[in-house]
Amino acid sequence: MPRWSEPARIGALELKHRILMGSMHMNLETVGDGSDLAAFYVERVRGGADLIVTGGIAVNRVGAGGRGYAILTEPDDVRRLRRVARDVHAAGGTIALQLFHAGRYAFESAFGMTPVAPSAVYSGFSRCEPEAMSDEQIRQTIDDFAAGARFAVEAGFDAVEIMASEGYLLNQFASPVTNLRDDEWGGDAGRRARFPSEVVRAVRRAVDVPVIARTSGADLMKGSSTADEHDALAVELVRAGADAVNVGIGWHESRTPTVQGLVPHGMWIEVAARLRGAVRAAGFDVPVIGSNRINSMTQAEEVLAAGRVDLVSMARPFLADPAIVAKAGRPDFVNTCIGCNEACIDRSIGDAAVSCLVNPRAGRELRFPLPDPPAASSTVRASTRRFAVVGAGPAGMQAALTLAQAGHAVDLFDAESRIGGQFRLACRVPGKEDFGETIRYFENELPRLGVAIRLGRRVTAADLAGYEHVVVATGVEPRAVDLPGADLPHVLNYHQAFDALDTVGRRVAVIGAGGIAVDLSELLACPDAAGIDDEAARERFARSHGLTESGGRAPSARQVTIMRRSGRIGAGIGPSTRWAVVASIRSAGVQTLTDVAYRRITDDGVWIAESGTGVDDGSERLIPADTVVIAAGQEPSTTLAAELAGGGIPHTVIGGARDASGLNAVRAFDDALQAATAL
Ligand code: SF4
Repeated sequence: MPRWSEPARIGALELKHRILMGSMHMNLETVGDGSDLAAFYVERVRGGADLIVTGGIAVNRVGAGGRGYAILTEPDDVRRLRRVARDVHAAGGTIALQLFHAGRYAFESAFGMTPVAPSAVYSGFSRCEPEAMSDEQIRQTIDDFAAGARFAVEAGFDAVEIMASEGYLLNQFASPVTNLRDDEWGGDAGRRARFPSEVVRAVRRAVDVPVIARTSGADLMKGSSTADEHDALAVELVRAGADAVNVGIGWHESRTPTVQGLVPHGMWIEVAARLRGAVRAAGFDVPVIGSNRINSMTQAEEVLAAGRVDLVSMARPFLADPAIVAKAGRPDFVNTCIGCNEACIDRSIGDAAVSCLVNPRAGRELRFPLPDPPAASSTVRASTRRFAVVGAGPAGMQAALTLAQAGHAVDLFDAESRIGGQFRLACRVPGKEDFGETIRYFENELPRLGVAIRLGRRVTAADLAGYEHVVVATGVEPRAVDLPGADLPHVLNYHQAFDALDTVGRRVAVIGAGGIAVDLSELLACPDAAGIDDEAARERFARSHGLTESGGRAPSARQVTIMRRSGRIGAGIGPSTRWAVVASIRSAGVQTLTDVAYRRITDDGVWIAESGTGVDDGSERLIPADTVVIAAGQEPSTTLAAELAGGGIPHTVIGGARDASGLNAVRAFDDALQAATAL
């Protein structure tokens, strides 16, 4: 029996297994009558989730992280939460309400209130300076947590989790970076620990359901709490009444990435294990929960079986595949979270409803209900309609999946020898290996649903005349540049560079600096870092982020310069990831130039003028290069769509083939879901 499947307990609450569905703010918490949020959770319960932790629910108005946060003092929010608890129970799951206060991470603009915090320390995340809390405000906030816990129990929640990590209010009190007080709530580590401890104590007194303390194992903030202080606080929270410790990592302002795809799997489990050791050494036997960058049941099983932690909390993996737990014995059929953050964390920071890039149904289960499963005797439904989907990139894969789930007969064509489209390029980039897991998922799931995958042939309209409808997902082609010398033999487009990496010279100039150019430059600079195992990746990450004694990164394999006419390096990459990947390529030695005017390409490289000063004095300089790569955008691939239109063959154009401007994978998957559902 795998360790993950063994029953466990948090206080008096019995868990069916050792996997928690961790807290995620969905921006659905204040929507409608709560049925969208409830349906999201219910689908996860049906997929094997047992204990679910809600997104942060603010204990008072000033503690809300933004407009999309439910607040326990708002009657409408409370009604929605009751419905959520009721529906999760009806589906057979259990649910904990996360008691939340953003402190200085609240956005001032959300409710026109000035955020409050232990001290008036400017927050680079919410871009505001909070007000230092008075003693009275502190005591009232403790009462608000207790009142929130009472509400949670009365509304039917099975447990509460107190948010005391990720740089939110309780964490702010514990840290010397944000707690500059010199009263009974600040000063030395013991007094800084007082507020979080008092909150746990008050909640413990208020309710008799299990209390989980989500506490920080590492703030990853310069000058913040030491490991010993984190350990001591965790012990103190247990002493104050916590029944479990859930270990959070990093703050929103940390300059060390914690949840991005470039963070190796299991990177932070040692921190949780350290904290568990401290809790055990203090004589407490409560479960310690590890989280962050564990995105498969296999990894969860590894850390559980090794005794590093008692339970594993996964959050985003449940967005990507609601049935990740139920599919534990069939990993090839799991739609894996690729750590892109594009449809989840990036949206949760703003007001947009959270979903998932690789599973665009997430959060919209009511709008896009899954048809009834096929009869037990067959995995393939009878169908009266035949569809061809041409192009097996993100849009084509999703369209084929949606059509097949609806019971149609689908043939999926692609000229390449493998499905995946641009994901086949992305998965070669160090830190993006999980994009290959998406291809693996579709390669298994589509045939299971009866989709015939036909590869290695470029189809024409004549080949498609017999289909009832054709979905054109032919994607994009690299945009050519109109520049003297662009036809020289050492000039490649980004696609050619990915495909023929060995032919790329030692000095590379990349024209364009969007997401693809950034990915390519990482690969060109650090080809040996691609596809390494998790342990080697963790060691490399720790070295390059100064987390070990022997710091520093291996020297770059190539001298790479990426440049663009205007805008930021990596524009188009989501806000939670852009800074991390740009920092990564810079630390790999990649030169980045903006406000560049291209003059010409010669055998020696690219001649440019830099207009960053606003003064174009006509001076030019050479970016020396053995290879020049053009990554200056994309154009829709429209040949097939034009042929079909000419032949009067019914068709729908989706994804990049429909509109390549500002295309990203989120839009491609979403476009496909919507178009295929409408057919
Ligand atoms: Fe994971 Fe990306 Fe989906 Fe977020 S959007 S759950 S990071 S795959």
